[in-house]
Amino acid sequence: MVESAYLHVPFCKSICAYCDFFRYGSSETLQEQWLKQVSADLEALDLASLKTFYIGGGTPSALSPSQLERLLAVIASRTPQLEEFTMEINPDCFDEEKLRICMKYGINRLSIGVQSMDDTLLQAMNRRHNVQMVHEVIKLCKAHGLVNLSIDLIYALPDQSLSKWQETLREAVALDVPHISLYALSIEPNSLYGRKQVQKADDELEADEYEWAIAFLTEHGYRQYEVSNFAKAGYESRHNLAYWHYDDFYGIGCGASGKEKHIRYDNERNLMAYLKGMRAKETITLSKEEEMFEFLMMGLRLCDGISLSVFENRFACSFFDVYQEAYAKLSAQGLLVNEGDRIKTTPQGLHLLHEVLLALM
Ligand code: SF4
Repeated sequence: MVESAYLHVPFCKSICAYCDFFRYGSSETLQEQWLKQVSADLEALDLASLKTFYIGGGTPSALSPSQLERLLAVIASRTPQLEEFTMEINPDCFDEEKLRICMKYGINRLSIGVQSMDDTLLQAMNRRHNVQMVHEVIKLCKAHGLVNLSIDLIYALPDQSLSKWQETLREAVALDVPHISLYALSIEPNSLYGRKQVQKADDELEADEYEWAIAFLTEHGYRQYEVSNFAKAGYESRHNLAYWHYDDFYGIGCGASGKEKHIRYDNERNLMAYLKGMRAKETITLSKEEEMFEFLMMGLRLCDGISLSVFENRFACSFFDVYQEAYAKLSAQGLLVNEGDRIKTTPQGLHLLHEVLLALM
């Protein structure tokens, strides 16, 4: 039974300098056509068992109020058991009217693309908002009682010294939101930064920024529960936990990916083809070995790691039957530990997760 779904809204008002996500410039006409197609996709699925729904993008809040209302009405009418309903928003295109629509259809969590609390850096990233707009949007949500808010921040930006990053984190904590996600900038070849050959911060500064953030957020009541995610007690993202627990999830709409019954799939990525009703789906059937590794790859991102009993129930063999040798090596290096039912990374192992996973491959 699938309990989670991700729906991709592939439109953005403008293109951020670091971004190579799947998205198109927003257009009223294309959005209308897309809405018709994605509504048909939603109606073709049985969504009754869903517990979490996540609308990401792109920029879902780039939809007009009327488009947002029609999209949410379709979702809400088909998801009677939803417990967590998240939508990503950007501060420049979200207002009271859209907030009221979100709340009317049961959205109870917003993930806000803040990225920095420094106007100069926001401009350099080609973001459309400024710090003032971040304050306003958070104030608006709280005033309406929507307090389950998450913000995204980016570090290792060009021209971002450690002290500028510290200032962003201080201001972010002062926003008093219960969930914060941190992402290190990566320069993607197809992004504006990639094409301009912009350099991100060096590895040493990036590591210093990450470590400072962990200590600072921990000191301020946020628990790091995943490599990039920090939450006050009870505010962990249930939807994202489904990914990290390697559960099945529907991927809905153009550009979304999903996983169901040992098959991972990528939906049609060409918007024009999608609008004509084409649904090319790339699928990969995962072998048991691939699934075991992916289970570890996702689960070891969590600070609580993986459950040995869940592993055994899923794969009908014990973790140690398969990974004894690699585990012994990683544990001797101080990167993995076994605590009761759990295998997890040490703090050093979490920093070196890539190396840990290579050893488990
Ligand atoms: S970062 Fe987000 S808002 Fe910016 S272009 Fe990419 S998808 Fe759109």
